[in-house]
Formats: sequence, structure tokens, C-alpha cells
Amino acid sequence: MKNVQAWGRLSNTEHHAIPLITPSQASRQIQHGSFPGIAHGMGRSYGDVALNGNGTLWLTTAMNHLMSFDLNTGILHCEAGATLQDIHRTLIPQGWMLPVTPGTQMITVGGAIANDVHGKNHHAFGSFGDHVLQIKLVRTDGEIIECSKTERADWFYATLGGIGLTGIILEAKIQLRPVQSSWIDAETIPYHNLDEFFSLSDSSEPDWEYTVSWIDCMNGANAKGLFSRGNLASMSTQAEPEINDKTFPITPPISLVNKLSLPLFNFAYFHGNSLKSQSQKVHYEPFFYPLDAMHEWNKMYGPKGFYQYQSVVPKEIGKEVTQEMLNAIKKSGEGSFLAVLKTFGDRESGGLLSFPKSGVTLALDFPNRGEKTLKLLNELDHIVEQAQGRLYLAKDARMPRSLFEAGYPRLNEFLKYRDPGISSEMSRRLLGA
Ligand SMILES: Cc1cc2nc3c(=O)[nH]c(=O)nc-3n(C[C@H](O)[C@H](O)[C@H](O)COP(=O)(O)OP(=O)(O)OC[C@H]3O[C@@H](n4cnc5c(N)ncnc54)[C@H](O)[C@@H]3O)c2cc1C
Repeated sequence: MKNVQAWGRLSNTEHHAIPLITPSQASRQIQHGSFPGIAHGMGRSYGDVALNGNGTLWLTTAMNHLMSFDLNTGILHCEAGATLQDIHRTLIPQGWMLPVTPGTQMITVGGAIANDVHGKNHHAFGSFGDHVLQIKLVRTDGEIIECSKTERADWFYATLGGIGLTGIILEAKIQLRPVQSSWIDAETIPYHNLDEFFSLSDSSEPDWEYTVSWIDCMNGANAKGLFSRGNLASMSTQAEPEINDKTFPITPPISLVNKLSLPLFNFAYFHGNSLKSQSQKVHYEPFFYPLDAMHEWNKMYGPKGFYQYQSVVPKEIGKEVTQEMLNAIKKSGEGSFLAVLKTFGDRESGGLLSFPKSGVTLALDFPNRGEKTLKLLNELDHIVEQAQGRLYLAKDARMPRSLFEAGYPRLNEFLKYRDPGISSEMSRRLLGA
């Protein structure tokens, strides 16, 4: 038995953890194990989507081989436990990268498919699943399913964003895109209210592939922030930077993110960056994954952990709804330090439970201060539900079933693809099994 925590560190329960060794052995290991279980990749989901307290966890990270790569077509065939970091560090020097990558590269291909992850370029490249050509899945009864957008497409779209509930992904084929260098031409621009944010988004999206913003959410109506945009740089002669990752040293007894530190941090971050706001060439790792440089940064929230909350609401009412959410946060006195505001493009993933859809997405994290925090999250739920939005399952640990059902209208279609030998804490919470 092994104690396992999700990235938000809200619980710490024992699991019967079984490392899957290779794709061919995995189906035997799974069939002869005890049910129900759930696949577990790098554990970068914040809530309970990859947890199964006191039950089986199939650990996938040993199945991490890049099986073949075609330098002419950019098609990668890999095992599901390969990480995005493995892929990038191996293939960017060869001139190829993943078209979509989230805010951390310490995740597996299986996890990226199961949550149909998105990056800063949703308006240009959609979500991870848009670039997956084929998935090889094993069901807990041993049946192997190979599916793609044209062959057994119903299984493909159930598994994409299917939070691990349709089977265990063993392998995938992914279409990579050519790149000329590992650098990004980036700009950071301060904004002083939501109108400025939306105007920057609208004017940037046609010409800039990557757009995202950090927002200081302690100011309610006067939300200010830093808008960042970037494009892949053409051939660069700059030397690769030295990788110098650090590890957060301890778990402090209380959260370091609190009422005193947050306003100070936000003030310093905004003013520090707005002064040096400029165009620059940035290596892709700090540009895409600023948090990866500090391993185990999640410990800074102390032993009680933290909640992540990511919503998407329709663009037409995006400004008013974001405003309402920011006002509720300000009123509650609960602050968020990693607050990210961005727009998704006008495209919906085919995944039956995929999160990204056209609109405005706000991602927030809150130190777990018990009832006070939950009260605020309930208020935010109400605003999101009224706006006909949805919450991201990769981040969630507590949304009520009614909000889940309202936000994911294709849920009933999805249910028939569930594997009866698979269940997670999230599936029991939101689906009753
Ligand atoms: C710092 C940080 C930044 C992030 N930024 C973003 C972002 O910008 N955009 C975004 O979309 N997400 C983001 N995330 C969330 C993260 O990308 C997802 O939670 C991702 O799915 C984690 O992958 P994992 O390998 O850690 O999977 P886990 O968290 O271990 O598992 C996630 C889900 O995948 C399933 N799964 C894993 N492997 C398999 C498999 N082989 N077969 C079937 N199911 C499987 C699990 O059962 C579970 O349902 C971020 C997370 C962090 C910590």
C-alpha cells in the first residue's frame, strides 16, 4: 500500500499501487488485479480524478517509451506513460514539438488525453486531442480497442477527456508540428481593467499564437494584470539555457499564501513586471512552464493543501461574469495567487467530457481554509452555473453533481463507454459509481 496525494494535497490516502511495466504485460496485470481501479500518470491533476482511496491505482509512468518517430511526417508513436517533457527534450532538438501543451510538461500522454488538456494556443490549435491520431486502450476484461477519429471514432471521443473511465490507454500516435528553434518571441503588456484585457485578447489572437494573462484578483472591479503573448521564433543562434530546477524545500506548517502575503505578492509582481514589460526571446520551457522550475511548489500551501478552480463561460457574457466572480472573491477575503485569465477559441473538442469550449476561462487557486473557502467556491459555482459554464475536471475536488451535469451535456452519451472495472473518487462523487 502507498500513500498518494493529488497535486492539491487535500487528502492523503493509502492506495494499492500497481506499476504497469509494459503495454503488453499491462493487460495481464490489470485483468489479474483487484477492481475497481483507476490509471494514474504523473499525478498533476489537482483534485480526485486520479485517486481511488484504499483501492487500486495503475501507475503508468514506467510505460514511457517513445516507440517510433518519423522525421519526415512528424508522427510520434509512444507509450502512454511518456511525459511531455520526455517528448520535448528528445524531439525539439530534432525540429518537432507537440502542437498543444499545458502549463506543466510533467504530465503523461495518457493524462493529457484523459483530460484533453489545453494550452495557451487554444484559439489557434485547439486541445491536445486535436493532434492525437490513434489511441490503443485496454479494458479491464482484456479487450484491446484501437481507435482514431475515423476508426471506432465513438471510443476515441469517449476516451478523449474521458477522465480514465473508458479503459487504460497503453499507447498513442500523435501528430507533432515542425519548429525552427526552441525559443519564443514574447511580449508582456500590463492591463488595468477587464476592458483592456478583452481588447488585448481580441487584437492579439489573429497574429499571436500564444496568449494568456495573470490577473490580480484581489481588487474586484479594478482587476489589473499582465497579458503575455508569444510566437514561435524562427531559427535562433542562441545557446540552450542550462536547466537549473529547484525543489521547494519543506512543507511549512501553515500556508505561505495568506491574507498578508497575497496583496504584497500581487503588488510586487504587477509593478515589478509592468516596469520591465518588453519584448524578448524566451526559451520555451520558462515560457510554457514557469512553475516547473520549482519542483513540489504545491507544498507552499502547507499541510491542508489548496483548491484549484477553473471555469469557462460563454464569451458574450465573459466580461460581466468574470467581474462578478472577481467581486465575490474580493468580498470573501480569500485570495488567489496563481490566477490566470484567458479566452478559448471558437472551437469545441469532440471529446464527450472535454473541458475546452469557446469562451473565457478563469483559473484560480485558494489555500484550503475549510468552510470559508468552500463557501466562496459555492458562490462561484452559482455564478458559473447561471452563466451556463462548466468547471474543469482535472482541477476539481468538490463540485456538486448538479453543476457537473449542467456543464457537460454529453454525459449520457459518455456513460455507455464506461469500463465497469474502473472507478475513481471523482467518478463516485459525480457519477455515483
Ligand atoms: C502547474 C500545472 C499547470 C497546469 N496547467 C494546465 C493547463 O494549462 N491546461 C490544462 O489543460 N491542464 C493543466 N494542468 C492540469 C494537467 O495538465 C492535467 O491534470 C493532466 O491530465 C495531468 O496529467 P498526469 O499525467 O499527471 O495525469 P494524472 O493527474 O495522474 O491523471 C489524470 C487523469 O488521467 C487519467 N489517466 C492517466 N493516465 C492514463 C492512462 N494511461 N490511461 C487512461 N487514463 C489515464 C487518470 O485516470 C485521471 O483521470 C496543469 C497542472 C499543473 C500541476
